[in-house]
Amino acid sequence: MSDYAVAVVSEDVCKEVVSRADAFEAVEAVFGAMAKGDAWNFPVVREAIGHADALYGFKSGFDRAGQVLGVKSGGYWPNNLSRGLTNHQSVVALFDPDTGRLRALVGGNYLTAVRTAASSAVSIKHLSRPDSKILGMVGAGHQSTFQLRAAAEQRAFEKVLAWNPHPDMIPNLARVADELGLPFEAVERERLCAEADVIITITSAFEPLLMAGWIKPGCHIACMGTDTKGKQEVDAALFKRASVFCDEVAQSATIGEAQHAVAQGLIDQDAITPIGRVINGDHPGRTSAEEITLFDGTGVGLQDLAAAAVALKRAEEAGKATFASL
Ligand code: NAD
Repeated sequence: MSDYAVAVVSEDVCKEVVSRADAFEAVEAVFGAMAKGDAWNFPVVREAIGHADALYGFKSGFDRAGQVLGVKSGGYWPNNLSRGLTNHQSVVALFDPDTGRLRALVGGNYLTAVRTAASSAVSIKHLSRPDSKILGMVGAGHQSTFQLRAAAEQRAFEKVLAWNPHPDMIPNLARVADELGLPFEAVERERLCAEADVIITITSAFEPLLMAGWIKPGCHIACMGTDTKGKQEVDAALFKRASVFCDEVAQSATIGEAQHAVAQGLIDQDAITPIGRVINGDHPGRTSAEEITLFDGTGVGLQDLAAAAVALKRAEEAGKATFASL
């Protein structure tokens, strides 16, 4: 019987070694691999645990192309902010695909934020109008600042319009816009929709915040907050006006923003295109300047594994991983 070493990559090291560009590249590649059938996600477990209002679960998958196997475990603890902790808590376990042995434990909190921001940024790169000037942000919580930073790298935005159900949170987002040199204005929802070329929704809403008729032609909307049954950020009728894309169809139709439109029979899930097909050049994506494109970013386990694999590689290269015997 022999001990073997398991790498540990801490939250702090993840922040040091994984850049937004790294996360973007990893997420774009794994979406492409998923659409080719080279990588797949396993069914998600996500349950209310009946304690601390928490949702807890597992997201797991295997990327055969990248040889990454693992699971992210964790969830959402809505009361954490008052304790000075982020609401999302998670860790990624990576396994050796040849032997099944545990290879590494990687902090998942920072990686969740950058991989989620990378997902909407990938959608902006591939689906928004290249001349998009106004970015609309709906949501001002923990994820929103990551979303704003990643989006700002994809288009030459000239202004940010923002709305949040809790106006006291808006300054978090305003500070980041200021840092990025982007004029920022808190506005009402209808004005945001009337002016924005790209909209990101990143709230915990359980009812539509944006109505279908408000969205202007040519807009790209990335719906990022809905990752659980029952959540909803936009009017289901928008799915009839928009060309709909997602990270993974099975999640989009069941726990993503599309769940309501599919359940109401407004769209068939076959009409939802995995963005990997656009990345791979197998689907044209946007075909006109007037088309509304909607990306349903539900958050798949393979995004977490891709980000964790980069963190492990970079941490080992930099001598920043620690090792424990098992
Ligand atoms: P947070 O708790 O820091 O912020 C919550 C945001 O939602 C704030 O803007 C808040 O004002 C708003 N909000 C809270 N309750 C609301 C309600 N009842 N109706 C409308 N808005 C409400 O959370 P966060 O970490 O910024 O995450 C935001 C959302 O994104 C969550 O729903 C989370 O589950 C989801 N998320 C999705 C992914 C993904 O991959 N798609 C990844 C991480 C988080």
